[in-house]
Amino acid sequence: MRIINKGMMDWFGMFPSSTFADNTCHLIAGMANTGVIETEEGLIIFDLPMKQYGKKLFREIRAITSKKVKYIIFSHGHFDHCFAYEPFIEEINEKRWEMPQVIAHENCIKRFKKYKMLDRYHDWLNKQQFASMGVGRQKFLVTAQETLEPTIIMRGDKPYTFKLGECTFELYHDIGETDDSIWLWVPEKKLICAGDLFVSSFPNVGNPYKVQRYPKEWALAMEKMLAKNAEYLIPGHGPLIEGDDKVRDVLSITAEAMHFVHDEVVKRMNEGKWFEQIYHEMLDIYPDKFKNHHHLREMYGCYRFAIHATYRLYHGWYNSGNPTDLFPAKSTDIAKEFLLINSEEKYLEHAKSLYNERKLQLALHFLDVIIHGIETNHNEFLLEAMKLKYKILRQKSKKEPSFIASNIIANSALQIKKRLKELEEN
Ligand SMILES: [Zn+2]
Repeated sequence: MRIINKGMMDWFGMFPSSTFADNTCHLIAGMANTGVIETEEGLIIFDLPMKQYGKKLFREIRAITSKKVKYIIFSHGHFDHCFAYEPFIEEINEKRWEMPQVIAHENCIKRFKKYKMLDRYHDWLNKQQFASMGVGRQKFLVTAQETLEPTIIMRGDKPYTFKLGECTFELYHDIGETDDSIWLWVPEKKLICAGDLFVSSFPNVGNPYKVQRYPKEWALAMEKMLAKNAEYLIPGHGPLIEGDDKVRDVLSITAEAMHFVHDEVVKRMNEGKWFEQIYHEMLDIYPDKFKNHHHLREMYGCYRFAIHATYRLYHGWYNSGNPTDLFPAKSTDIAKEFLLINSEEKYLEHAKSLYNERKLQLALHFLDVIIHGIETNHNEFLLEAMKLKYKILRQKSKKEPSFIASNIIANSALQIKKRLKELEEN
């Protein structure tokens, strides 16, 4: 399985928390970051990570300050941003404090409802997306049965501003990774809390498992943040970004990259091109300035996914332009027919020579003819094809920079290994 690299350690909060702005603001590192702003009248908490991180987060905040929690803000409704609330509510009940205000966008409420409907499905899905972290062994990775209900709901694009103590808190709604995102600007601290609208790598736009995301609006959100001239930026994932030059640099390169992928895909759609052509052309024109920028590392999401996201935003599922693909036959039936006109031995031989030429992707297509087409379990070519596919997937997953893509590939390798073991035991 993939070993989590330094970049992913940052993504998952394995770095020290930060205190800044005269010790009044804190980034508490967790599976996702939590922003804490201290005022004379109490605390503002921006995001609470996964349920499993609640106790650690609570201990860390209480080691810094004993002030009451006055506001909790959800940047968006993802599992890693608003479920670690239990220890805070226990404290409030114990000390008979007033419940804090909980702020979220109206689409976050819809999301919570959707999570309840699709609870088991999301658990199954997330166990795949995070397979290399060993989460498959946990009974439930996420559960949406209980959510902390928002008390202040932002609607549409309308900003929401409030004052607490000496500070002003301006909240804005924009869409990017999700349609329920809000971000916070605190002028007195020159601080932006971005949620997942800003993360320490290439934006997660186009996650292959998840629903539609919004590259163009993501760029516009970055530009709105740029206009604030912030000195501090708390990303949804990754260490604090500090210094107005640094903040400007990371926001503007991200905006530029999002405009680029969006506009170049749209241009090609207007030229009447199908997805395959657009995708490969887009790979050829990806500029080095994005490829080599530290904050656009393809650690989690990646440029390749963003091409899909933009196309899918404007186009349906028929993306090849080939009517053969409109109502296709079963892949196993197609493979069986291929094996009728050419032996499995030939396919295996060809797959091996492609492998030796390092044409790994092409080799996989030929191995699939054998794997999908052979019905009997006891076939030496089938076993050999599965072993070679396992080997190729392992190599690909190790080389793959995107954690999500790497997990998809590594997870399939694991399934092949299990099936091979069963076949060899019988
Ligand atoms: Zn997140």
